[in-house]
Amino acid sequence: MSNKKYDIIIVGGGVSGCAVAWKLSRYNLNVLLLEKEPDLASGTTKANTAIIHAGYNADPNKLKGRLNVKGNVEIKQIAKDLSIPFKEIGSLVVGVKGDDLSILDELLEKGKKNKVEGLKIVDKEWLRENEPHLTKDAEAALWAPTAGITTPWEFALAMAENAVANGVEIELETEVLDVLTEDGNVVGVKTNRGNFGANYVINAAGLYADDVARMVGIEKIEIRPRKGEYYIYDKAKDFDVNHVIFPIPTPISKGIVVTRTIENNLLIGPTSDPIDDKTDLSTTPEGLEKVYNGAKKLFPDLTLKDTIRVFAGLRAADKTEDFVIEAADNVHGFINVAGIQSPGLSSATAIADMTLDILEDEGLKLEEKKNVIEKREEPVRFYEMSNEERAKMVEKDKKYGKIICRCETVSYKEILDAIHGPIGARTVNAVKRRTRAGAGRCQGGFCGPRVLEILSEELGIDPTEVKQEETNSQIIEYKIKELLGSKVMDNA
Ligand SMILES: Cc1cc2nc3c(=O)[nH]c(=O)nc-3n(C[C@H](O)[C@H](O)[C@H](O)COP(=O)(O)OP(=O)(O)OC[C@H]3O[C@@H](n4cnc5c(N)ncnc54)[C@H](O)[C@@H]3O)c2cc1C
Repeated sequence: MSNKKYDIIIVGGGVSGCAVAWKLSRYNLNVLLLEKEPDLASGTTKANTAIIHAGYNADPNKLKGRLNVKGNVEIKQIAKDLSIPFKEIGSLVVGVKGDDLSILDELLEKGKKNKVEGLKIVDKEWLRENEPHLTKDAEAALWAPTAGITTPWEFALAMAENAVANGVEIELETEVLDVLTEDGNVVGVKTNRGNFGANYVINAAGLYADDVARMVGIEKIEIRPRKGEYYIYDKAKDFDVNHVIFPIPTPISKGIVVTRTIENNLLIGPTSDPIDDKTDLSTTPEGLEKVYNGAKKLFPDLTLKDTIRVFAGLRAADKTEDFVIEAADNVHGFINVAGIQSPGLSSATAIADMTLDILEDEGLKLEEKKNVIEKREEPVRFYEMSNEERAKMVEKDKKYGKIICRCETVSYKEILDAIHGPIGARTVNAVKRRTRAGAGRCQGGFCGPRVLEILSEELGIDPTEVKQEETNSQIIEYKIKELLGSKVMDNA
């Protein structure tokens, strides 16, 4: 056991764990966040639709309904304070010919119960004017002006960075293997890197939250992953979409969404298919066909010619189909933040507030810190700058003049900053999340090897040790010299 005893250990560095860490960093507490992977936000938080939902869709009697709106309202100020990309572009649930349009009224009523601001039903003419490429069969829609889009991993990383600035500690590649208890009280955790002591453990382990809950004997949480597959388009595409566009929802899914991303790529998806394997992030021909057909129903002119990538994310759906945020009743000091499926991103900060309330109820003293650092410095985003601004940056530091990712105009200096930042990038995907290097049209075909080389140089590790993402995802199998040496000669 490390000598230091923490007040709280958070298991899992997705948006939920990072939000809890961020909220706790405002108080005089020793907080440690443990993440099993080499980077934060590399679970479900990295692969979703990135919408901050308005909050009309979730059942007002469920936690999902109560917490979504609160999170949606909060994010506007948080985005300013922590320099998180956020655009309040509004969403539309579109009913087309043949759909049951009464569902729009039901959603409107649900939204009113959830206290969502500004909802109204709009007609054909409104839709034609505001979303010109939408199908001519669109009859009416529910307009929710407070819905927005964000960059989900940056949302999580920004909260984590600010938490670190305010004293929270983070350990990566540290997997919680067991929760330690004595006389019915939590006393710490066992990990692959030794034991850590704590009075409280927060289980924010996403897809694995049921496994972590079982470590203290809680059996009632059952996470069954629900896969969502997507296509993402290049910024150069046939037409723009101005809002987040949903079809009429089903009881378990909001349907195939067509939306723009913060950087103005087009994103279509997700499917909603229960699976058994928590690691299965594969895409399938059937899933992608469902995505394309669903999107074409809303936008008939859509083709696939400008798509640059397919991907999948897994919703951590509990059997209750709700968030499970509660203290364990069999062990003091263990709190579940489980079943955080959609709208988990939209609700993250409200989920964290609720977790702090539970901690207080469980006897934790929350004493506000003096001199909290409220702001996070905005990272340089070279691709957003004018040529004049870029020239000024290069004058300050020549490393800005060396462009590593041509598609997204990411400079050498930004990659160095990502590697040496407050939660430094150790993998190729971690660099991508922080800088967009590899997120463009060529998907890292050009910059990938160079990013690998920079990581190797800056971290002082052999290129064969550089990972794409998770533990054991090394990219180069053999050392170059071995390839050029005996192995190649042997095969000649
Ligand atoms: C297809 C899809 C679309 C979605 N769209 C939206 C949307 O548009 N808007 C919205 O609001 N929500 C959306 N969501 C939901 C949202 O993405 C999730 O609710 C949110 O990302 C969950 O975050 P989390 O931190 O709870 O889990 P995760 O991001 O999965 O984080 C859990 C972390 O715990 C770590 N971990 C697990 N076990 C251990 C262990 N034993 N020790 C240490 N670390 C461990 C994992 O490695 C992981 O990093 C969507 C989800 C999916 C799948």
